[in-house]
Amino acid sequence: TKELPADPILENFRRPVHACFSYVEPKKTKQPALVHASPELAKELGITENDLKSEAFLKIFSGNSMVANTKPYAMCYGGHQFGNWAGQLGDGRAINLFEMEYNSKHWALQLKGSGETPYSRSADGLAVLRSSIREYLCSEAMFHLNVPTTRALSICETGDRVLRDILYTGHPEYEKGAVVCRVAPSFIRFGSFEILLAREDVETLKLLTNYTIKHYFPHIEMGTKKGYIQFFKEVTNRTLDMLIHWQRVGFVHGVMNTDNMSILGLTIDYGPYGWLEGYDEGWTPNTTDNRDKRYRYGNQANIGLWNLYRLASSLFPLIDEAEPLEAILEGYRTDYKKLYLKMMKSKIGIFSEEAEDVVLINTLEENLQLTETDMTIFYRNLSKIDKNAVITDDFLAPVMDAFYVPEAINGTIKEEWKTWFQAYVSRLQREALSNEDRKSKMNSVNPKYVLRNYMAQLAIEAADKGDYSVVDELYQLLLDPYGEQKESEKWFVKRPEWARNKTGCSMLSCSS
Ligand code: AMP
Ligand code: MG
Ligand code: MG
Repeated sequence: TKELPADPILENFRRPVHACFSYVEPKKTKQPALVHASPELAKELGITENDLKSEAFLKIFSGNSMVANTKPYAMCYGGHQFGNWAGQLGDGRAINLFEMEYNSKHWALQLKGSGETPYSRSADGLAVLRSSIREYLCSEAMFHLNVPTTRALSICETGDRVLRDILYTGHPEYEKGAVVCRVAPSFIRFGSFEILLAREDVETLKLLTNYTIKHYFPHIEMGTKKGYIQFFKEVTNRTLDMLIHWQRVGFVHGVMNTDNMSILGLTIDYGPYGWLEGYDEGWTPNTTDNRDKRYRYGNQANIGLWNLYRLASSLFPLIDEAEPLEAILEGYRTDYKKLYLKMMKSKIGIFSEEAEDVVLINTLEENLQLTETDMTIFYRNLSKIDKNAVITDDFLAPVMDAFYVPEAINGTIKEEWKTWFQAYVSRLQREALSNEDRKSKMNSVNPKYVLRNYMAQLAIEAADKGDYSVVDELYQLLLDPYGEQKESEKWFVKRPEWARNKTGCSMLSCSS
């Protein structure tokens, strides 16, 4: 960050000029306690398991002491929220502790929830245990699902109480405070560029873009039009790749505002996210988006493109030519279609090409919505289908567990499925793969275990009573989401009925 301009003035509610960040120190906490730490990530950072248990680790990663010779900082960015320009936002409750190199990899380590920054606006800069557990578990789960994501190194309780909102409980209430240490090569977002466009600060925009290219896209030529165009193309590709992964595993981000779009194409900001249980393209977990459902599962790719338009506009002053940017944006739709089809075919175990494959996938997606059908269980169990099966009356037996209302599979619904399975099985017969080989390929892209909303909720409820064992159990489970974990069958089940409309599972809003 030494190469980027810092705001020299430290005060609340700053609108810095010609600056990308502000120096600010984390807030000390009353009684820090480690809830959990990730040995897998620690190892990548050169932190040993003994370090994780040390007093020094707890002090640093709860915000109570600083590593010598470091200067923590909060970043300035803007963003479009729910389709509207929201002006300056910035790290309101994230503070970058330091950046480091290990094994030739570059990492930024930041605390989320460790107090006010110049970008906190009217909020407190804090985070509660509930949302911190959700962020901690989900970012590591996503990593092990092979989805590009920011990581989480640790979660600490602070011992401080945090006043939180009426959406969750129905009335304001004090909750336990917590701090998560998030880790990524960089936390630069689309919004980091947008704020500079809004300020018409082309000089700083150029600095930031060159900086990003130099450190994170070093193969791209720096400082030329051609290089900036290639940079935009690569950000587009990475964003697209991330979104296809989200669709594959049934992840709904919930707040795809441009300030939550990483320039590295990483999933960032785990707030009111959710996992599809019943497959439903219209679903969003975010209760504040209930009316428009802008960020619903089936709209994530469109929003990705919408956000890329905002980034293109922000980079425009450096390129000064619309056509190359437009060509990239137009390419997004065709690339997405192509890659999405390929991904979906891999989910059903088809790897050769036939013109009708797209119809097979479309019909499958329609059928999954005929009656509530658990996405994860359906795809996982689909790999049990025998390609030589004769479609008789109990053809649905291998996937029956996926249906929330088995009685609904009757009449026309059953007929629709029968037609689909007949087409599917005969399509499989035209594939070279054996049943066994297809199954293992399918199981490497169709997870058996995901962080269902109610699972996170169980971990939260236990942790709130001081019992961190469920956090650990889920953490361990989600290290191997594609494996068969015999002792963990209880997590390979449909969402229990009590969790359907439970406050806390379904009532999720942006900031907590
Ligand atoms: P989000 O919807 O989580 O992406 O947050 C939008 C903006 O609000 C970001 O700039 C956050 O840093 C800021 N923000 C969210 N929660 C808080 C909080 N408790 N205190 C300060 N700033 C916050
Ligand atoms: Mg955010
Ligand atoms: Mg957030």
